[in-house]
Amino acid sequence: MTYEVKSLNEECGVFGIWGHPDAAKLTYFGLHSLQHRGQEGAGILSNDQGTLKRHRDMGLLSEVFKNPANLDKLTGTSAIGHVRYATAGEASVDNIQPFLFRFHDMQFGLAHNGNLTNAESLKQELEQRGAIFSSTSDSEILAHLIRRSHNPNLMGKIKEALSLVKGGFAYLLMFEDKLIAALDPNGFRPLSIGKMANGAVVVSSETCAFEVIGAEWIRDVKPGEIVIVDDNGIQYDSYTNDTQLAICSMEYIYFARPDSNIHGVNVHTARKRMGAQLAREFKHEADIVVGVPNSSLSAAMGFAEESGLPNEMGLIKNQYTQRTFIQPTQELREQGVRMKLSAVSGVVKGKRVVMIDDSIVRGTTSRRIVQLLKEAGASEVHVAIGSPALAYPCFYGIDIQTRQELIAANHTVEETCQIIGADSLTYLSIDGLIDSIGIETDAPNGGLCVAYFDGDYPTPLYDYEEDYQRSLEEKTSFYK
Ligand code: SF4
Repeated sequence: MTYEVKSLNEECGVFGIWGHPDAAKLTYFGLHSLQHRGQEGAGILSNDQGTLKRHRDMGLLSEVFKNPANLDKLTGTSAIGHVRYATAGEASVDNIQPFLFRFHDMQFGLAHNGNLTNAESLKQELEQRGAIFSSTSDSEILAHLIRRSHNPNLMGKIKEALSLVKGGFAYLLMFEDKLIAALDPNGFRPLSIGKMANGAVVVSSETCAFEVIGAEWIRDVKPGEIVIVDDNGIQYDSYTNDTQLAICSMEYIYFARPDSNIHGVNVHTARKRMGAQLAREFKHEADIVVGVPNSSLSAAMGFAEESGLPNEMGLIKNQYTQRTFIQPTQELREQGVRMKLSAVSGVVKGKRVVMIDDSIVRGTTSRRIVQLLKEAGASEVHVAIGSPALAYPCFYGIDIQTRQELIAANHTVEETCQIIGADSLTYLSIDGLIDSIGIETDAPNGGLCVAYFDGDYPTPLYDYEEDYQRSLEEKTSFYK
């Protein structure tokens, strides 16, 4: 089998707060509820009357701040924080955010969620002009562009820099006197604004962080928007008018927490509707529905309600292992599936099971779960996926950048079904997915990016275009 897992990309979480005496601690709690977005590193940067202080390290948030002194030293009334996902080879503290840049006349911090599609060419250009990068992360590029801009005022510099970077980005920038949030022109990644009872303003990748700290949601950041928060309140501005909402549909399918709302749609409810639609598209006989915990439980509920089949707990998850999708090597991924799931024989024995999962990436996890269910006595296992087949790579912040990594890019549905050892395989249709999410918008595809499924990217691919075109010619076999 050939698998290629590229590095340099991340699906991360950002959180920021302005105007609260416990800013760093609230950022810790906010980041804790975003931990599912990245588990390999975390950091918090605080602002104490214009002095920026930071602590960051590899590991889970609780490990990074195991010593309470590391949080206590982050005094001040404002903070930004970041949880990071990275792949093998990128295991360096230099890449952990927030980044902190100090100059003779100013200092600022930066946290980024997403992936830039023109990072390589911008970096080369900047290096030729004398820039020195201290990390291999593309997130540092914006700081160089801000600093090198000839625009006479800071907001002008920031707007100019934002219009030069392409791809998917949600940025938080902490200056001495303000917090700035900015989103790419398609709004690929989610970013929401909230307010606390004392008037403090919070910004988070997901609204689930607001619940934890008792903040109230105000609104989501719009594509191409800059939000400026300072002691005078919130100001909304933009750096481009050439915008069109295309939020990543994988946020609804897999990444975001079920209790988060994105563009007015609750993630759990969207997943339930995906499950119900999947039941309408499913054409086989079965006895019970079993969702793969945790991200497929909502879809399983929707499937069971629509089909009238009982929703059973046929799989149990060990809550203390990492997600397999984001582990760095194939060997670890195989091991991860064994560690994380068990089938409940007393539930599935002799039953025709509809196994609901949110997606199939390489097929490894699905194959192992089908095997677990069959070993536990299931008479048939019909795999029903709450998303369309992942046949194209992502360049906006998800760590799949070649078609070789995707089973559906290399095999038909029938072949995939055979590889994973299932009795049948059903994917949700693209139209079914768009209808199920149901954002209120006039934008194409219901305001969603569905490029993972149809290869129709909402933006030019810049530095990735050539490799992508080449990869369309290549096929990989997932048969052993
Ligand atoms: S290509 Fe896929 S994973 Fe990437 S932003 Fe679009 S829908 Fe999300």
